[in-house]
Parts: sequence; structure tokens; C-alpha cells
Amino acid sequence: MKNIFVTGGAGYIGSHISKELLDKHYSVLVYDNLQKGHRKAVDSRAVFIGGDLSDAKRLDKVFKEHKIDAVIHLAADSLVEESVKNPEKYWKNNVENGKILLDVMAKNKVRKIVFSSSAAVYGEPEKIPIREEDKLKPINPYGKTKLEFEKILQKKEKTHNISFISLRYFNAAGADPSGKIGEDHKPETHLIPIVLQVALGKRDHVNIYGTDYNTKDGTCIRDYIHVTDLAIAHIAALKSLDKGSSIYNLGSEKGYSVEEVIETARKVTGKPIRAIAAARRSNDPPILIASSKKIKKELKWKPKYGELAVIIKTAWKWHKNHPNGFEE
Ligand code: UDP
Repeated sequence: MKNIFVTGGAGYIGSHISKELLDKHYSVLVYDNLQKGHRKAVDSRAVFIGGDLSDAKRLDKVFKEHKIDAVIHLAADSLVEESVKNPEKYWKNNVENGKILLDVMAKNKVRKIVFSSSAAVYGEPEKIPIREEDKLKPINPYGKTKLEFEKILQKKEKTHNISFISLRYFNAAGADPSGKIGEDHKPETHLIPIVLQVALGKRDHVNIYGTDYNTKDGTCIRDYIHVTDLAIAHIAALKSLDKGSSIYNLGSEKGYSVEEVIETARKVTGKPIRAIAAARRSNDPPILIASSKKIKKELKWKPKYGELAVIIKTAWKWHKNHPNGFEE
């Protein structure tokens, strides 16, 4: 299996996966509508095709013109708050467009897919760490669309002999150690880039969304996983597709509070980083920590950049050298 079609390959996670694949001598075909992705994030060794997943004709043409052995499907909308305001957009882009991709795959006899799912499928977990067999009760439209697509994959496995690996991401963070690619969302909503923008002087302060949670310091706890470790897991997933379908959590099994993230960033950057207590953000589970036992055991995946300080250090290298992201 050599030729990999990466939807959303110009985005934050997609660009890191593409780079990792290319470093491991796969051929990469990136398909991205560049609504949120960046052309400059696409490695020069990859083939880039601009296009939307809703465009079945274009997609079919691409599948006919290129040899594709497997798909890594990342193209999606991924902001919880936006999904609450505009659930129809999320259903269309994350579910309906995904179905178009699966139909085109089946038509062209491509039967392998790695899907980027999310910890949001669990909602507010009853137990920590979260295991794959725990209850699936998403509390926002974003999580519901990710769960729905997992169900569609399970059906397609039976009806169209498609093998899938669904990876339920926890909090992807950090940047490629080269410092050449990294996170660049506009507007930025994620904690670590916002904290580093404060360190850079691009923002006055970071708001801490909720300081009265039932956690060690009152702030939310998340499981931050380095984006390169996440990319490496996708290659392990591709290799395992021959053995059949499965679903895995993808996290580091370590939880850090918002306060701890800010404090670690102060140490890494040497900057004071002003933080202000603010109201809770709606739909924010207090604690999300993965059990990664299953993927470690079955796919022999091991995080290389597990420490929060290392994650922040790599992100800092990217932000310091690219204060305006991919814009010049
Ligand atoms: N957060 C925060 N201030 C910010 C952005 C995020 O306190 O400006 C918190 C957020 O409430 C959550 C954690 O940081 O508990 C991680 O949020 P992020 O948006 O990075 O990822 P999410 O967990 O929502 O996927």
C-alpha cells in the first residue's frame, strides 16, 4: 500500500500526517478545499488537488486518474461552539460529504479508510480514563456527526467490504519538530496556540474558561497528544487495515489542567503570559483523558513526544518563527 489520498491534507493535522507519510516513502495525494487549510502547509513532495468533498464528479475523476490504495479522511468542520450554532453545516460537511467520499471509494474499488474521529463521541464520560467500549453520548452536534460517521463506516464494512480504522483524537497539539509546519486557525480557538500568541505579544491575555470545575485546580483537564505522535498512529492504522476494521482512542493517557498548560508555557517561553478567569465555555466536559491501552497493544503505537513541555516547545518554535502563521 503506497498511494494515500488525504482529505483535509492542507489542515493542521492533515499536513503533519502527509509529512510523516512522505518521510516514510508513501505517495501522498492531498485533496482540500482550502477553506481552512493552507496551500503552504502542503509538502512540496505531495500532489495537491483543490476540491470539495461535495463535488462527487470531481472526486470520482480524481479516483479514476490516480492510483489510490487507501484514504485518510480528515476533511471536516471541528469547532464545537460553531456546531451548536450551525448543526446543519456540520451534518452536511461531516456526514453527507463523508458519504459521498465512501460512495466514490466503493465505485472505484478503494476499500481502505482511516477516519479522524474524536473524543467528542463520548460526551461527558462517566469514568476516566476513557476506554473505547465506554458509553457513546455526544453532547454537541460536532460529536454527534463524528459518531454518525463511525456508524456509517460500520455499515459500509458489511455492505461494501470497506475496512476502516477510526481514531478518536483527544487534544492534538504541538508542531512538527522542524518548525516548518504548525497550527494556524483563523480565528484561533485552541488553548495552546492562544497561550503562545499571548507570549508573542499578539494578544493581551488568555481567558481561562471556568475556574470552578471539580478538578485539582478548578480548571478543565485535557489529554494533549503531539500531532506527530498522532501522525505516526495513522501510519500504524494504515498498516493494520489488512487485518480488518477497528476503533482506537488516540491520546497520551496524561491529563493537564488549563492552569498547568499556561504555567508550562510560561516556563518554556520565559514570558509572563497573562491569564484571566472567565466564565465556563458551554459544552466543555471537565475532564477528558484517554486510555490508549488498545492502540498500544494492537498497533504497537508508542508516543514519542508525550511530555507537555515538549509539546509546547515544538509549538513555540513554530509560532515564534511564523507569528502570522502561513501568511508571509
Ligand atoms: N480553553 C481556555 N481558554 C481558551 C481556549 C481554551 O480556557 O482561550 C480551555 C477549554 O475550555 C478547554 C481546554 O482549554 O477546557 C482545551 O480547549 P481547546 O479549545 O484547545 O480544545 P477542546 O478540548 O475544546 O477540543
